[in-house]
Amino acid sequence: MNHPLGRLSVEVLSQSANTLGCASGSWKIWSLSDGYVDLPAESLRYPNNKICRQTESPQREDSLVRLSVNCFLFDHSGIDRVLIDCGAGGSWDPSMGHLEEAMAEAGIDTSSITMVALTHAHGDHINGLLTPDGRRAFNNLSKIMIGEDAVEGFLAEPKLAEFRPLLAPINGGDRLADHLLAVAIPGHAPGHMGYLLSTGEGDILFCGDLIHVPAAQFARPELTWAYDDDESTARASRIKLLQDAADANTWLAGAHLGRPGLGRIVKEGQGYAFIPAA
Ligand SMILES: [Zn+2]
Repeated sequence: MNHPLGRLSVEVLSQSANTLGCASGSWKIWSLSDGYVDLPAESLRYPNNKICRQTESPQREDSLVRLSVNCFLFDHSGIDRVLIDCGAGGSWDPSMGHLEEAMAEAGIDTSSITMVALTHAHGDHINGLLTPDGRRAFNNLSKIMIGEDAVEGFLAEPKLAEFRPLLAPINGGDRLADHLLAVAIPGHAPGHMGYLLSTGEGDILFCGDLIHVPAAQFARPELTWAYDDDESTARASRIKLLQDAADANTWLAGAHLGRPGLGRIVKEGQGYAFIPAA
């Protein structure tokens, strides 16, 4: 069953509570949940820094908004397997750090992971290189792609020092393989990097932390998030990339989009609506 929307026709192959497996052309793409995190709702701001009214963002409690934490994996007939981000490991709240369980749920052997591509060096994206109990999550890992400007942040995490020899710094515009392009997405964090996969049937942009509160920021991309290093640059990146993705029917896969975090956008009113893959 091909998804009727968008140029990337995806076929849902498998689905479970914490995973979604799709096919596009000869590529397989998985969404794998690491869990979720609750953060202060007042982090969502209008461009003038005024706190966004609570009715405009989903609330768990009055003061908190719940963000999914998603990782993604893709491969091509079992090769060129790349994991995008690896979750929080045991570094943060126990509501995160569940990537290993999600992979087991999807029937993916962690020892098959040889390449990781990081969107940036924040804890909820890098610390899953180690499991919550401190083991190496991927015992055959040989390469970690990371934005050149994110390397310093990665190395500031002492527990991850053992991975230093695997780091492969990249920059926006670098072609990483025939089918894979690095796309700089400035504003959220140093070296914040997207990865554009071309499946032959369409493109999918793994866009990291381009959006934190999907229920609010697709409709109003100008809303900023206090965890963005440079909120005005992050806003400009978001406005441009959402426009580009809508124009080109590029699919988006975001670390904090509601599970499974994979879908495409359409223009709606002044902003966009997000249409999830499943
Ligand atoms: Zn994040």
